Amino acid sequence: MNNPRSFKQELVSVFGQPVAENPTQYMIEAAFKHHQLDWRYLTIEVSPEDLENGVKGLRAMGFRGGNLTIPHKVEVIQYLDGTTEAAGLIGAVNCIIREGDKLIGENTDGKGFVQSLKEVTDPVGKKVVIFGAGGAARAIGVETAIAGATEFTIVNRSQERGESLVKLLNEKTDSKAKLVLWDGPFSIPEETDVVINATSIGLYPDVSAELAIDFFTLKPEMVVADVIPNPPRTHLVQTAEEKGCPVLDGLGMLVNQGVIGFQLWTGVDPDPQIMREALEEVFS
Ligand code: NDP
Repeated sequence: MNNPRSFKQELVSVFGQPVAENPTQYMIEAAFKHHQLDWRYLTIEVSPEDLENGVKGLRAMGFRGGNLTIPHKVEVIQYLDGTTEAAGLIGAVNCIIREGDKLIGENTDGKGFVQSLKEVTDPVGKKVVIFGAGGAARAIGVETAIAGATEFTIVNRSQERGESLVKLLNEKTDSKAKLVLWDGPFSIPEETDVVINATSIGLYPDVSAELAIDFFTLKPEMVVADVIPNPPRTHLVQTAEEKGCPVLDGLGMLVNQGVIGFQLWTGVDPDPQIMREALEEVFS
């Protein structure tokens, strides 16, 4: 008998270690279901020693792509066939896309952030303060500069990482960047348009942690963004809301980077609201 059904799903995944608490599967599979796509998103624990074999497996089993999380975002690059220009500049890949038989690395963290930012302000010509200089800060800095922001103040605890991001922005984008070492409460310059927490301060379980900022210098005209997705209502988010600032929480960025990955893998524009609701359910 002829069976018109296919029992073979298309596969995508996230590799990380630890990875069990990563909620991306729940968000992406909610969208697969909503858009009636017979796809699966697998959450897979892969150790650094097994990353090369993991990518070979993904290739051999015809996965359509995947995400990378801690600690694989930098190391994975050597096992791929190439990266997009932005991911190359950032020096980190959080999303693999299959193009024919090639696996290409993309970075959707910064793009997801810029998409959230554009919902409240046009990045062109903006002066931006970024707390942190790690992977998230690099992705946000590069993509916000590509989107047209002109001045960056990087506020970071360690000099080396801070200098590396400042150099990247000054040498590889059209923006101007400077470093301020973060050794006490930081006063936000009056002319600042956008303030971003790209550190892990406030992330579960250390939910009461506060950024060392002189909050008197935070003005209602400044857009305030926090990358922390869990919990989304960080001390910074709450303080900025009390001040009357337009606020972006870490869930928006997480949803938007997922939206971009979903589009790249499936060719379908997912409904971001379905994805956000799935995450809110997880974090409620
Ligand atoms: P990294 O480890 O690469 O960088 C962490 C940064 O935070 C560094 O600049 C570090 O400073 C700084 N930092 C950490 N703790 C402190 C502290 N107590 N005081 C001052 N500075 C501190 O991490 P990532 O950039 O990959 O991730 C950062 C955060 O972004 C994570 O919480 C992650 O969950 C979140 N994230 C959110 C995404 C989203 O979609 N919402 C996407 C990607 C990441 P130093 O250089 O001095 O060590």
